[in-house]
Amino acid sequence: MTWNGIGIGEGVAVGPVRWMPLPASTPRAVQGDAASRVAAAVDAVAEELRRRVAMARGPGRGIVEAGAAMARDPMLRAEIDAHLAAGAEAGEAVTRAVHAIAERLAAAGPPAADRVTDLLDVGRRLVARVRGVDLPTLPDSDAPYILLADDLAPADAVLLDPSRVLGLVCARGGYTGHTAIIARARGIPAVLGVGPIDARDGEMLRVDAAAATVARDAGPATAPRTIPHRGPAALADGTPLPVLANAGGADEVVVAVAQGAEGVGLFRSELLWLEAGTAPARTEQAAAYAAVLHAAGGRPVVIRTWDPSEDKPLAFLPAGVRGPRADERLLREQLAALADAQSQGDLHVMAPMVRDAAEAAWFADLARSVGIRSVGVVVELPSLAREISLLEHVVDFVSVGTNDLTAQVLGVVRTRSRATDAGDPRVLELAFRAIRDARAAGLQVSVCGEAASDPRLAVLFAGMGATSLSVAPPARAAVHAALAAVTAQQARTAAESAIAHR
Ligand code: PEP
Ligand code: MG
Repeated sequence: MTWNGIGIGEGVAVGPVRWMPLPASTPRAVQGDAASRVAAAVDAVAEELRRRVAMARGPGRGIVEAGAAMARDPMLRAEIDAHLAAGAEAGEAVTRAVHAIAERLAAAGPPAADRVTDLLDVGRRLVARVRGVDLPTLPDSDAPYILLADDLAPADAVLLDPSRVLGLVCARGGYTGHTAIIARARGIPAVLGVGPIDARDGEMLRVDAAAATVARDAGPATAPRTIPHRGPAALADGTPLPVLANAGGADEVVVAVAQGAEGVGLFRSELLWLEAGTAPARTEQAAAYAAVLHAAGGRPVVIRTWDPSEDKPLAFLPAGVRGPRADERLLREQLAALADAQSQGDLHVMAPMVRDAAEAAWFADLARSVGIRSVGVVVELPSLAREISLLEHVVDFVSVGTNDLTAQVLGVVRTRSRATDAGDPRVLELAFRAIRDARAAGLQVSVCGEAASDPRLAVLFAGMGATSLSVAPPARAAVHAALAAVTAQQARTAAESAIAHR
């Protein structure tokens, strides 16, 4: 039996199935003052992880052990106590303490920085305990598995650990949905949108992302294809074209940079706060952004202000309003926090879902008024794509977001989109126009949608005049190789012929 869907990534994964457990329940009543709830949470989380150590085998065991030790770390406890003494609510105190320590670890670089993900996981567990909520749980298995779900929310997808989750299969979901983006970023082969699937827990499945198939009766696993390629990216004639990474956490930045990314071209800031019940404080945000800048080690980092959307809502912003319009007071606070972190690295800040040049000017003024030095906008709405020439001297750079642009131009829902959609001449023509007008206006222009991670389309964007690309980290090597195989003139010709048949 074979199921067909939408393939995400390149590899093949073979392993036993684990179904995603039912969603987390509503909060339970919590008792005791903040300090006693923190103490109880520390005991419970350390015990929970200790039980898992007893079950764990292989390299996973060390990771769980380290997590159990971290929960009881006196430095973490002292930091939490300091926030409690300053009047923070229990969950808030834990979150702030964890972020402060994560920042220090990230700043120290590997190997200390490698512990950031584990610390954040311990932090999530502690916060859930003190607030009386169940974590959205991935299956509790220490043996690697193929995760099967009807659908997976990005808030669950951010918990995917590539050392445990070999592959992902969902009945629903599409190529540019945020769950797909996260799976791709972590190098987890996935097939989404397969429809009803009747595999049982424990049954062996083979997930082939490139072929977009899921099959029973698995044969031996094939290693994912990797193309080693390091150093700055360039076209065959030597024209430099930096390839940066898309990321959603300091830990992802550490990995991307270690693999050769020349910086971060899109940091989706909302992914940091998917689990926050209330708006993060300015100091907490500044610490998180500083950790991201440290993780990039001085390379450029483009942080996008938060972009709550239907599939990744933020509890503290109104539903259904995307982009910088969601809440001006909170946007100002976010920009101020970004300005606080600015001295820690090479920061650039951009706004998503900007509607037109006037709104871009409003955002740029706001960002500059709090001290942000490099300001840009994502071009993902057709109304803005047609007004790029008005952005001369208004912003410093633009970045083409092909995911939303494709959805808008073709009228497709992102969680139903397919890889080929962004290659539609109607989408490419608008992207070409935006890139050409940006260059004529003297602006740097990047492409950060998933289409830039497709080597064939990456060549077209180079031919259109993009000055950098930002891609899912596992796609970097293949994009690098495709760019190195063409001259600027060949890329230009390819771009022109791709839109010739409109
Ligand atoms: C895009 O829309 O292309 C983009 C890069 O942003 P996101 O996928 O986060 O909406
Ligand atoms: Mg977008």
